[in-house]
Amino acid sequence: MTTAIRPSIERKLDGQLLLPGDTGYDESRTVWNGMIARRPRMIIRAASVEDVVTAVRTARELDLEIGVRCGGHSSIGLAVPQDGLMIDLAPLTGVHVDPDRRRAWIQGGALLGVLDQASQRYGLATTAGNVSHTGVGGLTLGGGMGWLARQYGLACDNVASYTMVTADGEVVRASQTERPELFWGLRGGGGNFGIVTEFEFRLHPIGTRTLVAEYTFPLDRAIPALKAWRDLNIEAPREATFTASIGQDNAATLGFVWVGDPQRASRLLHNFQALGTPAATHITEMSYLDLQRREDTVERHSLRRYSKGHYLQQFPDAAIEAFVHRGGSRVGVGLQAYGGAIADVPDEDAAFSHRATLFEFGTGTTWTDPASDAVRIAAARRSAAAMASFAHGVYVNALSDEGAEGVRRAYSPAKLARLIALKDAYDPHNVFHLNQNIQPSTG
Ligand code: FAD
Repeated sequence: MTTAIRPSIERKLDGQLLLPGDTGYDESRTVWNGMIARRPRMIIRAASVEDVVTAVRTARELDLEIGVRCGGHSSIGLAVPQDGLMIDLAPLTGVHVDPDRRRAWIQGGALLGVLDQASQRYGLATTAGNVSHTGVGGLTLGGGMGWLARQYGLACDNVASYTMVTADGEVVRASQTERPELFWGLRGGGGNFGIVTEFEFRLHPIGTRTLVAEYTFPLDRAIPALKAWRDLNIEAPREATFTASIGQDNAATLGFVWVGDPQRASRLLHNFQALGTPAATHITEMSYLDLQRREDTVERHSLRRYSKGHYLQQFPDAAIEAFVHRGGSRVGVGLQAYGGAIADVPDEDAAFSHRATLFEFGTGTTWTDPASDAVRIAAARRSAAAMASFAHGVYVNALSDEGAEGVRRAYSPAKLARLIALKDAYDPHNVFHLNQNIQPSTG
């Protein structure tokens, strides 16, 4: 049946229609988490805004479930619909930077590395995530945390306008002055309202230099070091984003990432003596682009993965102990500091919730043998459960398989009600539901 309608769809496309067995079909449906093996009935690799419109209309005519793929980093593979129509935005990677107006226009299928590279050519940047092969689309629509956020706000705080294809196949724009309610919802509400084909970002003159400071401690000395690290974070300059992690190897690494002139980090480096004597110290200066690619290999595609997260407003001693203990497991845990410009933005400005977060907690595990799936997933869940009583919410982009309960944790009740009203207005039939779903009130 699908083969028979092939010519009528292809005739309308600038990009490609891929059916099972076609060259490129497997590559397109393969996403970051190696556990995801779903097979769409068809894939439209959209090469223009018109292709996105055609794809949405085709899916609705054929009653196929829609999945939207940008970087493919959704940890539960939300981009790939089993037996549905996957709209692969990967060809939509165009970017244009106006250095005088400090603006970047980037298409909805681009990866973060494209945005960073185009902006850094002029010493400019905007907040983007920590791994350059993450999609601009999914990351920005959920909020977008990165090393510049304490100076300039989240990625979504730097979007001046969105161009979006609706569930009816209309192309609309949203900004502070055009469809302001949609603009509000797109800043944190995820892919619930439509498919964004272009983001207009504000850029900032950040220069090109950064520094990463890492102090490694054996696990039995991690607790006092973490207490000193937490206390230093209170007064940290906005150039610094504090980080802490304990790896599957049981080593605790505490430190910070600094974006700006490394000379200005010397006082903070000196203050880190309060942590005690580390087993190893790494202070590394690097370019901003190298910083943005630093985790690309560790976070590469195709491994099996499971992760969970929490937002913490406080990090009391009992939470430090739970963080180190990890629910008795040996999975990886990490913290990244919020605050600064993230908290400057008035809470009612955007759908993104929990701006008073002190640290984002994440726990995750990586493996290759499918026989280990159950054990690995159970360990990460134990580690997340051990921190649950200290949490006050969660980052929507850190949710995995929590479903509706997770969505309720990601938004304050008032914001969720407003998001549902917006969903009713833009997608009352929940055409876009393969996401952290805001269910319409009729759904
Ligand atoms: P995809 O799987 O392609 O898309 C996920 C969902 O986003 C889709 O189901 C769809 O609903 C929606 N979507 C994507 N593009 C569009 C679009 N153009 N229009 C409408 N909807 C769209 N988050 C941070 O904030 N900061 C980080 O530093 C960070 N680092 C990460 C590193 C790794 C290795 C991973 C796996 C994730 C990281 N994340 C980070 C989380 C990340 O923001 C989410 O996983 C996000 O959903 C990834 O977006 P994507 O486009 O790559 O994913």
